[in-house]
Amino acid sequence: MLQQLLDAVTHNKATLIAVSKTKPIAAIETVYAQGQRHFGENKVQELVDKFEALPKDILWHMIGHLQKNKVKYIAPFIHCIHSIDSMDLLYEVQKQAAKNNKIISVLLQFHIAEEDTKFGLNMLEASAILDIYTSENNPFTHIHVSGVMGMATFTDNVLQIEKEFKDLQHKFTFIKQGYFPFNTNFKEISMGMSSDYQIALANGSTMIRVGSLLFGERNYN
Ligand SMILES: *Cc1c(COP(=O)(O)O)cnc(C)c1O
Repeated sequence: MLQQLLDAVTHNKATLIAVSKTKPIAAIETVYAQGQRHFGENKVQELVDKFEALPKDILWHMIGHLQKNKVKYIAPFIHCIHSIDSMDLLYEVQKQAAKNNKIISVLLQFHIAEEDTKFGLNMLEASAILDIYTSENNPFTHIHVSGVMGMATFTDNVLQIEKEFKDLQHKFTFIKQGYFPFNTNFKEISMGMSSDYQIALANGSTMIRVGSLLFGERNYN
């Protein structure tokens, strides 16, 4: 399966993020041994434990909702935070990145699904962040806003999923043209999971986040 996913992402010049949440260290080592370096987790404690146990050239992505008071635990090593869903959270990431004397890449998470359970910004909230980020006195000196992230509705309706991914792609283009016409850092569209990564790649995804297809179904018991 790994090779099939790699063929798909390579063909689309995208990146595969192996979502290893709930999976043991040994399972990650197996995929790592096959050359995979980008891994994603959605819980801070699990992410920290796995970072400590695994090779240090792994690029860790935080893809789950992130509480402000936990940013400090991942700031020293995190490669990219996909789940920026408030201005407050971004200020905290800035604070911890500065403390660690590093720049942290982040994605703005948009609410594109029909369910209201999924976290994310709307365009008004994102614009408020971007107005400040692109202002002359930008306080976010230790942050690279690298793109957008979204999760489609959990449904079998391909047209619905396609509509939501197109919506995220439009938001990306709107922001790119309005805020970053000359900034090459802003380039990522993180969308697509096991069930919908092909639809995502066909609609401009640059990062797919695939878990169960790669590692097998998760067991939450
Ligand atoms: C769990 C998770 C994934 C991967 O889901 P699969 O269906 O197992 O591929 C992707 N993105 C986020 C935000 C997740 O929480």
